[in-house]
This record gives sequence, C-alpha cells and structure tokens, in this order.
Amino acid sequence: MSFTSYMDIALEEARAAAARGEVPVGAVIVAPDGSVAARSGNRTRELADPTAHAEILALRAACAAAGSERLPGHDLYVTLEPCPMCASALSQARIARIYYGAADPKSGGVAQGPRIFAHPQCHHVPEVYDGIGAREAEALLRAFFAARR
Ligand SMILES: [Zn+2]
Repeated sequence: MSFTSYMDIALEEARAAAARGEVPVGAVIVAPDGSVAARSGNRTRELADPTAHAEILALRAACAAAGSERLPGHDLYVTLEPCPMCASALSQARIARIYYGAADPKSGGVAQGPRIFAHPQCHHVPEVYDGIGAREAEALLRAFFAARR
C-alpha cells in the first residue's frame, strides 16, 4: 500500500466521525511490515473524553495490540495536523513518521503553535510530512463546521 491509500483509510475514519457528529478527523497507525495496526476517528463527544482524539485512540489500540507503550518503526497517518497533546503522545510512543493532511492554524501543535517536535524537551522527533490528502481533509472539516453554524 502507498502512503495515499493509508491516508484514504484515515479519510474514511474522518467521514465516519462526521457521521457520528464528531469533528471529522481520522488516524491510522501502520506497523513496520505495512499492516494497519490501528485506525480510529475522533470520539470526544461519544466518550465524553477531551483526550479521545483520533490519534490518541489509534495509539491506545496499537499499543494494546503490541503490548508495549512504544511503537518504534510505526507510522501515523492523520487527516489534520496533530494538536499539542497528540504530538506529545506520538513522541512518547516513539512513532517514526507522521503524515498529515490539513494544517490546523487554530489548534495545531506541529508546524504552528507550540511546535512540539522543535522543543528542546522533545526527546523523540518523528519525521513529519504534511499536506497528504489535505484538500479532502479540509473539505470534510469545512462542510462539518458549515453545517453546525
Ligand atoms: Zn489531538
């Protein structure tokens, strides 16, 4: 599978999140052998949990399956730039590479805001690739917030 098809899975999760009334963000964690270790969408409202972002839920599921709090060699695909909480958690988990779609000027923590991975206290810095499938991720978010207005 190519990086675009993993992002397609993340976009599927984002669409499913929107259908549940959640902010449409989806994430996929890919194991070193190329298999999908976990996939998730936002569930903050459903779980009444402000930490239930797509990335955190995918991390929890992949770590539980691996029986480890670290996921070396694993990649994360997420439709929106990770927030500071998720960026920090992804660093703690030793995720190797992060591919994200839309930039998040309001709440992002990677390319803007606190720029978690550029901070000297960040002990593990993943490789970051942005703009993957960004147009579709942005369209989903725009449609979601337009409908709520
Ligand atoms: Zn987050």
